[in-house]
Amino acid sequence: MKSSYLNADLHCHSVVSDGTLTPEALAQRAKLNGVDLWSLTDHDELGGQQAARLAAQSALLPYLTGVEISVSFAGKTVHIVGLGFEAENVEIQAGLKATRGGREERAREMSRQLERVGIAQAFEGALQYAGNPDLISRTHFARYLVQSKVCKDTNEVFRRFLTPGNPGFVEHRWASLADAVTWITQAHGVAVIAHPGRYDFTPNEEFALFTEFKSHGGQAVEVVTGSHTPQEYVEYAGMAQEFDLAASRGSDFHSPSESRIDLGTLPWLPGTLTPVWELLEDRIL
Ligand code: AMP
Ligand code: MN
Ligand code: MN
Ligand code: MN
Repeated sequence: MKSSYLNADLHCHSVVSDGTLTPEALAQRAKLNGVDLWSLTDHDELGGQQAARLAAQSALLPYLTGVEISVSFAGKTVHIVGLGFEAENVEIQAGLKATRGGREERAREMSRQLERVGIAQAFEGALQYAGNPDLISRTHFARYLVQSKVCKDTNEVFRRFLTPGNPGFVEHRWASLADAVTWITQAHGVAVIAHPGRYDFTPNEEFALFTEFKSHGGQAVEVVTGSHTPQEYVEYAGMAQEFDLAASRGSDFHSPSESRIDLGTLPWLPGTLTPVWELLEDRIL
């Protein structure tokens, strides 16, 4: 069978970042859903990797190490997924530690802004939802605003709050694109542009992102992801070919009650593309 038709799910989140399941529960869910190759890609953090790898191994589920790094590019936040790198590499560990370092202060400022529009104690509220206090994120604020009945669901939260121009949005300087790609590739992994359809870039900015990503050694782009529409599968399949990038596939699953796409349930990658796992055969654990 052509390897495009592999049920790979190379993007999801656990309680170590902003998901609601443990790495062990995710491994079991991936196995039950028929995933053939899995990666846990928590935001800016490798704390779940060992548990994910061990749980995958006991479920006989092939595994790639993973991470999703927050990057600032052209005034926006871009996410770069790393796959198959060495999790014990000290440079990537130090880089990720620095990247997540500013999150608590950012969260306190988000909370101060929300206080001004009448939402009290949002920092404390969000923190209750953070399985890892070092990784407090907008998702945890969103869960708190839903639970406290300020909004009816997380979509409404991100429409009214926490996004540019709305209360609770705080500009933040994440890693540089060059650093993120270099940390991943120097640790023998493959860097992947995550969900490019989500960024609202102009065509020129998007061209710059793909060009600079490649110039730093980036090798792949997510084409089939829970964050893309079917039209975007087609659009980014075209970008993968235009930029000679391999293609990745991942649900971006966060939670059974919040995520539209479950682990292992996405459409296949288009058969015309090179699957990213063909670059990672010797990195599968
Ligand atoms: P942060 O890293 O703190 O900026 O949080 C980013 C996370 O917020 C993303 O990884 C998503 O999980 C979540 N997020 C961002 N925008 C939205 C949205 N429009 N709807 C739902 N979740 C979102
Ligand atoms: Mn997230
Ligand atoms: Mn992302
Ligand atoms: Mn993600």
